[in-house]
Amino acid sequence: MNPISTRYPINELFETIQGEGFYTGTPAIFLRLQGCPVGCPWCDTQHTWEKSAADKVDLATLLAKSSASAQWAELTAAEILAAFKQQGFQAKHVVITGGEPAMYDLRELAQVLEAAGYRLQIETSGTFALQVSAATWVTVSPKLDMPGGFLVRPDCMKRANEIKHPVAMQKHIDALDNLLAQCPPAENVIIALQPISQRSRATELAIKTCIERNWRLSVQLHKYLHIE
Ligand code: SF4
Repeated sequence: MNPISTRYPINELFETIQGEGFYTGTPAIFLRLQGCPVGCPWCDTQHTWEKSAADKVDLATLLAKSSASAQWAELTAAEILAAFKQQGFQAKHVVITGGEPAMYDLRELAQVLEAAGYRLQIETSGTFALQVSAATWVTVSPKLDMPGGFLVRPDCMKRANEIKHPVAMQKHIDALDNLLAQCPPAENVIIALQPISQRSRATELAIKTCIERNWRLSVQLHKYLHIE
């Protein structure tokens, strides 16, 4: 047994409905990890980029947060499980997101949560080697040519259960085609296009392409429902 438990930097944990990708509509506990060096200019969680010691708080302060902030708490897997129970969460699907959660070794977290009956999903940019359980559902949302200079890894693309790609213009689909040619995914992978910012032209392009390719459409249901 590992005598030193891994401590995970948690920016947020809350229960909602998964609004994106394969598990759309599934009640889920979201576990947002602090830290991301990828640097996407349009990132809507920029408050998770820096893991500053000045922003470290305890669990009670974290749970009392009423808006997005850079505050984070450091918790072991056992403490995370205890927090789920303390909060009265009912969902059995746990989405590990960020930030970039693949910066961390998630195997201990998976071991503890899976033993307690949870199913894990990770949402990642595909730019860090994955340290997840065999049962974890891997959603790669590949981030190409971002300022951080990280490359999408062929091993992440191969491990992906689902590749979810934000699109606004044809060049985004062309970039995905190039990536799929260079880093082939598994044969049974699910590919989903996600229109950026609910724009109608992006949505039309995504619908047309999904029908042509037999891909899936991911519409960010939570944004239409105005939930977190
Ligand atoms: S990888 Fe995700 S969290 Fe990191 S900058 Fe890009 S969108 Fe934001």
